[in-house]
Amino acid sequence: MWANVFRKHYWRTGKCKGCGQCCTHIYVKHFKHVLNDEKEFEKLQGLFSFYSGLKIIGKDELGLIFECKHLDAETKRCKIHFWRPPICRRYPQEELFAMGGTLSDDCGFKMEPIIPFKDVLNKIQKKEERKIKKIIRS
Ligand code: SF4
Ligand code: SF4
Repeated sequence: MWANVFRKHYWRTGKCKGCGQCCTHIYVKHFKHVLNDEKEFEKLQGLFSFYSGLKIIGKDELGLIFECKHLDAETKRCKIHFWRPPICRRYPQEELFAMGGTLSDDCGFKMEPIIPFKDVLNKIQKKEERKIKKIIRS
C-alpha cells in the first residue's frame, strides 16, 4: 500500500543514536532545487526560521553545505530538541536520496526498500520478455 498509494520506496527502520552527524553536513532542498546560491540563502534566512539556524560551511557539486547552529559541539545534542523544526523531526526521509544525499555511516536509521530489488528486477525482465514476444509475433 505504501508503495502504490503513497509512492514510497523505502521503509525507515532503526532509531537515532544521537551522533549529531546529520546536523553538521546538511543540504537543503528548497521546493524543487537544492540550494547552491549564497545570495538566495541569505534571502531565505529572513523568511524561514529553519534557515536562520544554519551556517554555510562549504559547497560542492550538489549544493551549499550547512551546519546547524543549534547543535551543541561538545555533547552532539540539539540545543532546541523540544522545539526543533518539523524537518528535523521527520529526518531521515527518502527525499534525501532523491537529492543525492545519503545517511551517514554511523546513523542508527536504515532505509530499506519496500519492494526488494530482485522483485523489481523480475518485474522489469517480465515486461521486457512480453515486449520481445509481441515484436516476434508481429
Ligand atoms: S535544529 Fe537540532 S535537530 Fe535540527 S538540524 Fe539543528 S541541531 Fe539538528
Ligand atoms: S545521523 Fe542518524 S543517528 Fe546520528 S543524529 Fe542524525 S538521525 Fe540520529
